[in-house]
Amino acid sequence: MIHSMKDAPLKNKNIVIRLDLNVPVQDGKVTDTTRIDRVKPTIDTLRESGVAKITILSHFGRPKGEEKPEFSLGFLPPVLSRCWGVDVGFGPDTAEKITLLENLRFSPGEEENDPNFAKELAVHGDIYINDAFSVSHRAHASVEAITKFLPSYAGLNLHKEIDALEKALSTPKRPVAAIIGGAKVSSKLSLIKNLLPKMDMIVLGGGMANTFFLAEGHDVGKSLAEADMTAEAKSILTEAKAQNCEIILPMDGLMAKEFAKGADYRETSIDNIANDEMMLDIGTQSAEMIKEKLGAAKTVLWNGPMGAFEIPPFDHGTVAVARYVAARTKSGDVLSIGGGGDTVSALSHAGVSDDFSYISTAGGAFLEWLEGKTLPGIAALDR
Ligand code: AMP
Repeated sequence: MIHSMKDAPLKNKNIVIRLDLNVPVQDGKVTDTTRIDRVKPTIDTLRESGVAKITILSHFGRPKGEEKPEFSLGFLPPVLSRCWGVDVGFGPDTAEKITLLENLRFSPGEEENDPNFAKELAVHGDIYINDAFSVSHRAHASVEAITKFLPSYAGLNLHKEIDALEKALSTPKRPVAAIIGGAKVSSKLSLIKNLLPKMDMIVLGGGMANTFFLAEGHDVGKSLAEADMTAEAKSILTEAKAQNCEIILPMDGLMAKEFAKGADYRETSIDNIANDEMMLDIGTQSAEMIKEKLGAAKTVLWNGPMGAFEIPPFDHGTVAVARYVAARTKSGDVLSIGGGGDTVSALSHAGVSDDFSYISTAGGAFLEWLEGKTLPGIAALDR
């Protein structure tokens, strides 16, 4: 049983809280504050509960256990102060009531789940809170080992995230469909395999679909595909039949000679891709067919866009399917859950961010949860 921080004796306590403040930064500016804004209610609740001090732990980028100035979190406290409307200090020795510690991944102990490093972190508090679902698939010191030294609780977002995902996956309303697209083919093939026994249908789009076309003997030209994964794709298709899970593949697409905004393209069937073309989006017929198939679903899980949605017109398929799922969610016919960084952007691009039942900003953790894997950070709270 995971205890929420709402049940913790917070008054006058020093809190150590793990957040995911690994925000996107361009030219020294934070370009998207979603991750910061999402934890504001947690910070507000802690303050209203009369805690003594809040020490925030986060990683930023991949400094790989070394102190690299370009990965310092020193730039962030003013941004946090602005977003949360409260002063935030930097480092352990500030006078502020809320302080952010330096990038956890400056210490090799973080990713090694080193108990000694965890102990150093635990020194800052009487109570530990994990409000970073997106890193909970990692057995890292600030996520796992630290729970051995302090009474540990789930933050408001983490709790909400688990509730939403459990609702969708433990006893989903059937039929349940997964939409898997995007470009990370090899890592997602194992996901698809693990989803087969749980799903009634799996819609494949984006770069994912191309590897399956190859497996079925189609020529995919210059399309993103992983030729060395075709055997795996074939075995998924066979296994799906045995598991009674319908695999839905596009039948047409938008083919272009270059991966560029406004590139010339033609819409044609997937057995008609020229050698110098790549499929950058699903076609109109496929979008219609996918919508029709999804019409039967009561639960829809989504990770990965149907095409290269960042470069119009190759956003059509993603937008069409996203709006359809959003409309069915709004009418109460479907419980829909989207997850993963690119999926969040794709759904936002389609203008449906507020219309899905739940959108998880977590990438890896969301996928591992879908696969039914135990997340070390969550298991650590469950004792
Ligand atoms: P992922 O992180 O695996 O969800 O992949 C997201 C990325 O996949 C996005 O940046 C898309 O532009 C890209 N993508 C989707 N479909 C295609 C495609 N058919 N060809 C190339 N890239 C694609």
